[in-house]
Amino acid sequence: MAYTNSGMVDYTRLSPNRSGQRTHTIDRISPHCVVGHCTAEGLGDWFARSSTQASSNYGIDRNGRVGLYVEEKNRSWCTSSNANDQRAVTIECASDAKEPYTMKSSVYATLVKLCTDICRRNGKSKLLWLGDKDKALAYNPAADEMVLTVHRWFADKSCPGEWLYSRLGDLASRVTAALGGTTEQPTQPVEPEQPKTQIYRVSKTTVLGLQREKGC
Ligand SMILES: [Zn+2]
Repeated sequence: MAYTNSGMVDYTRLSPNRSGQRTHTIDRISPHCVVGHCTAEGLGDWFARSSTQASSNYGIDRNGRVGLYVEEKNRSWCTSSNANDQRAVTIECASDAKEPYTMKSSVYATLVKLCTDICRRNGKSKLLWLGDKDKALAYNPAADEMVLTVHRWFADKSCPGEWLYSRLGDLASRVTAALGGTTEQPTQPVEPEQPKTQIYRVSKTTVLGLQREKGC
């Protein structure tokens, strides 16, 4: 399937911080928290500096606008994992600057639409949230399946923050419903959402590291 870019893009500034064409077809989406309520232009400025050494395919800004920084055909430098970034479309989402990195409802609404659009253009009818690193990374998706992965599985970071992390099941269900598929997730029985008892701890240095890496 030929690679394309989203028609939802409001602003384009291609980043030098990327590798060439992907070595793996797209079957993952990795949403991130920017650590700041940035604009699409501000995030574009940050990724345009080669010294930033980071990028994402898309960004969703504080007003729900979509920025394109690395075309879908190319590998972004976003998830601290070559293996993941080769197959994932990465999306930076404007958020609060500290845990739980809350996002505005307009940002989340755009994320649902953008994930739906990415799935549709890449021939997927289901978005899956498997809720567990080992399960998700070992999962071999069917041709019509897209899998959500998160940055915290690959680096000592909270990203995408507890606010979005706790909504990834909801995100997967909304996107799958919009694609016309079943909202049932395949490998595990869906259990009612339990209150999180484990706080994901982020040290001050980690937060500062995030801010340095993901300024906006
Ligand atoms: Zn991240």
